[in-house]
Amino acid sequence: MTQRVYNFSAGPAVMPVPVLESIQRDMLALPGVGASILEISHRSGTFVAIAEAAEANLRKLLSISDDYAVLFLQGGSRLQFSMIPMNLLGKGQSADYILTGSWGNDALKEAKKEGETSVAWDGKSTNYDRLPKNGDLKLNPQAAYIHYTSNETIQGVQFKSEPEVGEVPLVCDASSEFLYKPLDVSKYGLLYACAQKNAGPSGVTVVIIRKDLLKRSDPNMPGYLNYQIHADNGSMWNTPPTFGIYVLKLVTDWLLNDVGGLDAMYQRNQDKAKLLYDVLDESNGFYAGHAQREDRSLMNVTFRLPSDELTDQFVGEAKKQSLTDLKGHRSVGGIRASIYNAMPLAGVEKLRDFMVEFKEKNA
Ligand code: PMP
Repeated sequence: MTQRVYNFSAGPAVMPVPVLESIQRDMLALPGVGASILEISHRSGTFVAIAEAAEANLRKLLSISDDYAVLFLQGGSRLQFSMIPMNLLGKGQSADYILTGSWGNDALKEAKKEGETSVAWDGKSTNYDRLPKNGDLKLNPQAAYIHYTSNETIQGVQFKSEPEVGEVPLVCDASSEFLYKPLDVSKYGLLYACAQKNAGPSGVTVVIIRKDLLKRSDPNMPGYLNYQIHADNGSMWNTPPTFGIYVLKLVTDWLLNDVGGLDAMYQRNQDKAKLLYDVLDESNGFYAGHAQREDRSLMNVTFRLPSDELTDQFVGEAKKQSLTDLKGHRSVGGIRASIYNAMPLAGVEKLRDFMVEFKEKNA
């Protein structure tokens, strides 16, 4: 099959077509180089320029100041679950975790292996269908940092703004929303995102860290796990994920030049999500959203149908219409439509029309 489908996968996920076309066009030989991106040294002028452009694009899109280092690492967001406490959580200190879904819980699990932690809020009692209000957080003003997950990919709950945490460094897992809207990076101590949703392919993870926090890294820890070493070496201490960085550069070029920046991207994302949430809201409960209205995600739209049979039928019939990867995560059930930056409006419109028709036939 060479025809493209509308792929609603939660990640790795849909990529912008112009990016795929660039990769395809230049795969045998980068212009002026005569070899592909997969075949050149990370120390070559060509690759160094690509990595610098990727970082410059991110700095431009997110207005990242020189107070922050931008690192391109491997190991996915899960390695960050460990690296964050290994670097930032000193002996005798404790870190706060806000738990709004599966990924926050997994981050906490790894942090517990490294030191003291405390749960500032846990949405478990309502199966992670909502977010805390600022007054709900049990904060430790002495905490080494406070960790939260800005968009929970599985449950589909997403913070509209950062939790207020005072002077404690705010650490954010932004994996499944990174670059979906503008961000005030100065509010964060550290922000990280695996690329395979909005920023590129799997294999590269972006870490944006306030430089004063680099001092916390113990020089005796394993080199690869040490943020200070990566920052000192411009993410080239070891061979970085060159292909991933190259694609990240193309995706950020697309955001800057084709989309017109993150304000425009945010508008597109709001428009797309509204199409689906309107169907949910007007379905008299046939499509029951998992997340509470005010906390629902613009990236991962999660909902249930009246029965498992209807859910399977929905997934099967959608696939016949080239609408794929819609089955929800097993822990939540139902349907999850991931509509990241690169999902075109036409794909969401087609899903919307399918949902309306499916309900008419089966309600
Ligand atoms: N955090 C969030 C919010 C995620 O969605 C994911 C991946 N789905 C991860 C962490 C884990 O990322 P990785 O598989 O790259 O380790």
